[in-house]
Amino acid sequence: MSGLWCVNVGYGQQALVDAAARQMQTLPFYNAFFQTATPPAIELAEVLSEVTPPQFNHVFFSGSGSEGNDTIVRMVRRYWDVLGQPERHVLISRQNAYHGSTMAGASLGGMSGMHAQGGLPIPGISHIEQPYWWDHGRPQGMTRDEFGLVAARWLEERILSIGAHKVAAFIGEPVQGAGGVIIPPSTYWPEVQRICNKYGVLLVSDEVICGFGRTGRWFGCETMGFQPDLITFAKGVTSGYVPLGGVMVGERVAEVLIEQGGEFNHGYTYSGHPVACAVALANIGLIRSLKLVEHVHDDVGPYLAEAFAQLAGHPLVGDAETCGLMGALLLVKDKAENPKDSTAFDGSVGIGMVCRGHCFREGVIMRAVGDRMIIAPPLVITRAQIDEMVALIRRCLDLTLADAQREGWLL
Ligand SMILES: *Cc1c(COP(=O)(O)O)cnc(C)c1O
Repeated sequence: MSGLWCVNVGYGQQALVDAAARQMQTLPFYNAFFQTATPPAIELAEVLSEVTPPQFNHVFFSGSGSEGNDTIVRMVRRYWDVLGQPERHVLISRQNAYHGSTMAGASLGGMSGMHAQGGLPIPGISHIEQPYWWDHGRPQGMTRDEFGLVAARWLEERILSIGAHKVAAFIGEPVQGAGGVIIPPSTYWPEVQRICNKYGVLLVSDEVICGFGRTGRWFGCETMGFQPDLITFAKGVTSGYVPLGGVMVGERVAEVLIEQGGEFNHGYTYSGHPVACAVALANIGLIRSLKLVEHVHDDVGPYLAEAFAQLAGHPLVGDAETCGLMGALLLVKDKAENPKDSTAFDGSVGIGMVCRGHCFREGVIMRAVGDRMIIAPPLVITRAQIDEMVALIRRCLDLTLADAQREGWLL
């Protein structure tokens, strides 16, 4: 799991350690308020504008992904205020999305267990269904591509029912991570883009997991074929060696905020922390010099996809999907001749956690999200290491199947 979708360049990278030590000796801290900044923050802003899509030339730093998404909520509402449309404050997100754990992050997220604690969501957030073909498209007999269009149009229906003049933005992860590696059909995001354009709604890509090479391009929006107005990043920007997050601000929003908005009264003590920025610079330097994005796109990404296609033949696996170096196996029972007709295990079995227990004992870290077993290996993984990982996964699936047969869970 790369720690928690973080350690993209792998452990033990001395260049990142050295960058942190050097920066702590030079200037361990200065703030980024009142028109000041530190050299590493300025340099990182420049590098981020190079590796992100061309519409991004501004960055707002935070200390985490959650803080980045809190910034998104304030920033998109501020944008519409400055444009004289203060009614336009609703953000649309999705069920089973994960956008962090602060008040705004957890509210944007669609995790019912989180909403149930602490009086969430905050006002002005609206959730639509996630683009999960297995639950929503398959029962209706739709192809994945047909379903992608249907799921995107749930956004249009919601915009119309709220009133476009009240909708500020739509936010989504290109591929939902914590929700169980939900990979939308290829038709989904281009249609979401078309709908946002039609109604003038800002489009936000939460790239905290998908950013920095995870999907085989620098950013998940490039893999999925859309052009967001704002990007949230964290995790992979430093490979988790130290905390850093932020928001890439596209030209459409930056122009309004900077030229017409005056001061944006928002910021964190640790925004642009020089040590974190120095580590991020070393990390991005390594992603570039090791050509990790190309490595995922051309080599280990397709190799993992092939290996997962083989695992799809296992009697417990109803669906096996990957996108770059994110992958998910859906565990099902009575997988008949037509796997699409297979059914879910009884929830009381907790089949995912049974499988996860075997994984941890056998020495492969897979995470269970319900009945979905998910992985996100470091981008430096080799083909031989993928072979080793997949052999262990197969062994754990066999052990899980033996449990299910013995306990009568397959009935
Ligand atoms: C992890 C995550 C966040 C929250 O980031 P934190 O650094 O934990 O605050 C936000 N969005 C996505 C997609 C994430 O995976």
